[in-house]
Order: sequence, then C-alpha cells, then structure tokens
Amino acid sequence: MAKPVRFHATTFSRSVIPTINFIDLTDKVPLDVDFDRLIRTLQTFLDDCFVPAWGAPAKLIKGTKPKDRTWTFVFLDNPHSRDADGWHDITKDGFPLSKVFVDQAIASDGSVSITACHELCEMLIDPTATMWVDGPRGTVWSYEVCDACEEVTFPIDGMRMSDFCYPAYFEVFRLKHPRRLRTQYDYCNKITKPFQILKGGYSDYMRGGKFTEKTGSKAKARRFAVEDRSYHRSEFRKYGARAAHMRVLPKRQA
Ligand SMILES: [Zn+2]
Repeated sequence: MAKPVRFHATTFSRSVIPTINFIDLTDKVPLDVDFDRLIRTLQTFLDDCFVPAWGAPAKLIKGTKPKDRTWTFVFLDNPHSRDADGWHDITKDGFPLSKVFVDQAIASDGSVSITACHELCEMLIDPTATMWVDGPRGTVWSYEVCDACEEVTFPIDGMRMSDFCYPAYFEVFRLKHPRRLRTQYDYCNKITKPFQILKGGYSDYMRGGKFTEKTGSKAKARRFAVEDRSYHRSEFRKYGARAAHMRVLPKRQA
C-alpha cells in the first residue's frame, strides 16, 4: 500500500480542532469576571451556540505561557502594558494569537466577556483577519462574524456573550429573497438580510480597492470618531502584515 503523502497544507487546518490557551497577564486592570468561569462559559457558548452554526469547534484551556502547537488568547491591562509589545499577532510557531485589552473592553462593551466572545468567534472563522467575501454592488466585505451585530448580547450562566452572524449573512445570492426557507442570519435573529448592519454594529468593505468602515447608526460613527481603535482587529486587517510591526497604527482620520 502506498504511503500517505505528508504535506503541510496550512497551519489553520480545518481537520484539526484547535486548542486555545487563555492567559491572564493583567496587572493593574483586573478582569471584571472570574477567569475560570469565563473560560468555562465561553466553552459552553462555543459548544451550544457557535459550533452548530459554523462547525468550528475549539478546546479552551487556561495557561500561564504560550504552548507549542496551540493558539493563544491573552488578556492585558491596556495596549501599553509591559507585555503588549512582546507578543505578536501570530505566535513564533505561526499560530493565531488574540489580545484583549481589558481597560478598553470594559470601557467600550461594559464587560470583558463580550469582547472575549467577539474575538473568539472571529479568530475561529478567520484566524489571520485576511478573508474577504463578495458583497452587493461590486463590494467585498471583511469576513468578520461579530461586527455587524456587535452590540447585541445575550446571557449564558449570568455572563454576557456576543451575538454573531451565521454563514448565510455572507451569501450575496440570498439578497433577492432574504426570508426564503426562513433563513437565519445571526444567532439572536435580529438581522433580516445579508450584509445588513444593525444599529450598534459596523462593517469594513472595499469597492474598487477603496476601504470603507460602515456603521449602522450615526451614534456609532460618532463613538468611532473619538475612540482609539488602533489596536482593533479591523485596523490590522486594513494595514495587513505591516500592522504586526507597527508599535502604534496611524490615527484614524474621521
Ligand atoms: Zn470584530
């Protein structure tokens, strides 16, 4: 019998269930939730809500430092924390790394659990923040599964979790008959058609190579205008590989 060919297809092979190592490196800004309980609740969220829709499971563990062949999810005080610059957005082995800055998470979302849930979903579907999908009228949209509904939350075990889009949200052909077969576009069932942005949500899209950040309401646009979003995943998406080497990303214009 022929020997199976060994090849390296991608680090993010869908045939391997990733282990994600959660590390709390906060020093001055404590998490507003119990760390063990947060990991447990996020695992329940994945197993019960996210995996049935996306088929992208993961095993969440608690650790104190990065492990070989394991994805990393680290919590830091703020973007200027002692350890913030020492961690790259891909680990030394080329595995995905997410950072949650606790002061910003609590200020913008009210709890670190919502930001952690948001980042976890997006990390599992697009680990390197590089995927785009065809949208309406010649646009391409970022494949970020929480942005369009980012202010919709729901509780699990007393912790706030983030709403997230379903795969159908990114299927442009459904725009003609959005409610055919009672298609659902997000977990909380607030979105009624593909590429819709809810009031507190936003999305990044491109048309003719020009990058646009579209918000679901004027209030959201005003909040973005005064917020320092340099460290947000969407900024890394905009600046690509360059962003991993920038200490501070260029300030937003609007
Ligand atoms: Zn996002």
